[in-house]
Amino acid sequence: MFLRLWSSFPRSLKKKILLCCVGGVSTCFIIRNTVVRKALPVCAGMGLWALDTFVPQVNLFTRYFGRGQSKDALALTFDDGPDPRITPYLLDLLRRHKAKATFFHLVSKAKHTPALVREIVSSGHEIGLHGLDHQKVWTMGLKKFRHQIEYARKTLEDLCAKPIFWYRPPHGFLRFDQYLVVRRMGLRLAGWTVGVWDTDEDVRPQEIYSRLLRSFRPGDILLLHDGVADKTRPQTAMLKALEEIMPVFSKQGLRLITLSQLWNETNYS
Ligand SMILES: [Zn+2]
Repeated sequence: MFLRLWSSFPRSLKKKILLCCVGGVSTCFIIRNTVVRKALPVCAGMGLWALDTFVPQVNLFTRYFGRGQSKDALALTFDDGPDPRITPYLLDLLRRHKAKATFFHLVSKAKHTPALVREIVSSGHEIGLHGLDHQKVWTMGLKKFRHQIEYARKTLEDLCAKPIFWYRPPHGFLRFDQYLVVRRMGLRLAGWTVGVWDTDEDVRPQEIYSRLLRSFRPGDILLLHDGVADKTRPQTAMLKALEEIMPVFSKQGLRLITLSQLWNETNYS
């Protein structure tokens, strides 16, 4: 799992992570004294907390639905939309390839495009909650977080006239106490197995296509974006790359389905 996650990172991010690791290890060697040794359990605890909060693929305490068991299907997911400049074309592309997907909406955007939200639902796709906006919820107090999630869920349910079952926090960052709130609300946490960094600035369709091509296998949850949270440019490169990769999926006999379909096809026994 870690190798697949690692191979999906762009080279610049890999360099940064390696530099941090080398820096951290060197620092430990330089200042290894009793104070450092005494602090080790605290550091280990903080490390575990950070892993659980910031890496949704690691299900230590906070449990994400991170991978399905299907032998012939992938779950398609799109975050940070809807975007009227991209989502309608995306719906058309999905329709032509008989594909279904789960759209994780930002309520601040969905509020302005109610007709588009209804079209997504009437086309047989699924809508999940990505948040009121894209702020980092892990920094938020528990009371404010609960109120915000309740309001965002209710607003989104009113917009699409359907219950919402899935929540994917912005960046996949969520504290364990917030996870308990989400679970009590009956929401499932949505993770992903393949992210291709399709919101990178100046990323070319060919790069997204190549990252997708070397990453996927049946049961995966693909993370793509039909919107960009804080920027104004449209996700044109992602759309072009998806258009190119669709025939590859069908040539391999892979169905493209919603997260709930993958969940239902996954055997938990
Ligand atoms: Zn997002």
